[in-house]
Amino acid sequence: MRHMRSLVLFLTLMAVPFGAASADTGKDDGQKIIRNGEQASIKGPASCFTGNVRIDPLYPANNAMRSSGGVTFEPGARSNWHVHPVGQVLIVTAGLGLTQEWGKPVQIIRPGDVVICPVGVKHWHGAAPNSSMTHISICEEKEPGKVVQWLEPVTDAQYDAR
Ligand code: MN
Repeated sequence: MRHMRSLVLFLTLMAVPFGAASADTGKDDGQKIIRNGEQASIKGPASCFTGNVRIDPLYPANNAMRSSGGVTFEPGARSNWHVHPVGQVLIVTAGLGLTQEWGKPVQIIRPGDVVICPVGVKHWHGAAPNSSMTHISICEEKEPGKVVQWLEPVTDAQYDAR
């Protein structure tokens, strides 16, 4: 249950507009700086991830702006298989990672690599077996809070099929 609450919190955080922003006008109070340390990290729930995963929220959806989260996978940790209703961009910032599209080979991803996950394409991403991996994930919402549809875990056999 704690994991589910974390997930709900994560998805809720991603959907909460800032301050006095108005959904009607798209105008807000102006530039906002979210200071380092203001947003608590969230443990990636076991219902969505294998291994230890930390989600560092970056900014929530805000009128025309969309949502994102920085995600760190410890060695061997990975997401479940999943799809994004409006797609996703991954910007790898540290470590060594892996990603796979359903039906295609596992691919290595490195810092500076940008991965585009198209709408509705089933995939997973995570860390290599002996290295952590951090990426910034940018997802757009199809409706408030809905940036991902989670599917089954990536099995060890799938993860090891490199
Ligand atoms: Mn994804």
